[in-house]
Amino acid sequence: PPAITLNNVSKVYSNGTVALKDLNLTIAEGEFVSLLGPSGCGKSTVLRLMAGLGKMTSGHLSLEGHSDRKLAFVFQEAALMPWATVQENIYLPLKLSGLTKRAAAAAVAEAIELVDLQGFEQCHSRELSGGMKMRVSIARALVTHPEILLMDEPFGALDEMTRSKLNSDLLELWNRMKWTVVFVTHNIYEAVYLSNRVVVMAARPGRVVSEVTIDEPYPRT
Ligand code: ADP
Ligand code: ADP
Repeated sequence: PPAITLNNVSKVYSNGTVALKDLNLTIAEGEFVSLLGPSGCGKSTVLRLMAGLGKMTSGHLSLEGHSDRKLAFVFQEAALMPWATVQENIYLPLKLSGLTKRAAAAAVAEAIELVDLQGFEQCHSRELSGGMKMRVSIARALVTHPEILLMDEPFGALDEMTRSKLNSDLLELWNRMKWTVVFVTHNIYEAVYLSNRVVVMAARPGRVVSEVTIDEPYPRT
């Protein structure tokens, strides 16, 4: 079943920039979809609309059977609280959740394990490398048990080695957890390596120009 459906979605920013024009896109439950395209083609705009950040100008967007809580966002900037520990950063989204202390601690511990941060719980996030910060950012998204993970160039600021390691870890994680993932990138190798489906967008005027479904997993060494 579809998790996210966009019908003829257009977005014109208040300065007149047409970011999206009549975009049609359906993302199935459990699918890992990459949005690929040059800078400025509207990828982030699509993701922000999916996340409910900002209004579309026209069209229709539906998240099938999912409440807001089931959605998490990971940005290129890890955006951590630098003087808080790894554990405190990951706990943040649970603060208002009404979970008991014990349940929250268990969820944080689980998220830390998922992204391989055991042993770093008490480190201050400002002491971490870029790759480690991104692991914290992913754990902070996962701690709420989202069904849909929206990722906007999450590894774009990292060096190739770190990026490649995070890509394989993310793929392994997705194979276990089977979330619906929408992953924005302008890196074609990353898109092909990670996704079930690559959706290619063109710069003008912000619409899907091609889609490639990947039936066989990308060979891994
Ligand atoms: P991408 O993520 O593919 O780089 P964006 O969705 O960020 O593309 O941007 C699509 C277009 O909309 C670009 O031309 C960009 O400059 C413009 N844009 C993005 N955000 C805003 C904004 N807040 N106000 C005005 N124009 C914007
Ligand atoms: P905003 O008001 O922009 O939605 P918040 O104040 O909720 O941001 O959170 C600040 C930053 O913390 C966000 O930019 C985001 O990077 C991160 N963040 C908070 N909650 C989550 C979450 N559940 N998943 C991923 N990142 C989150």
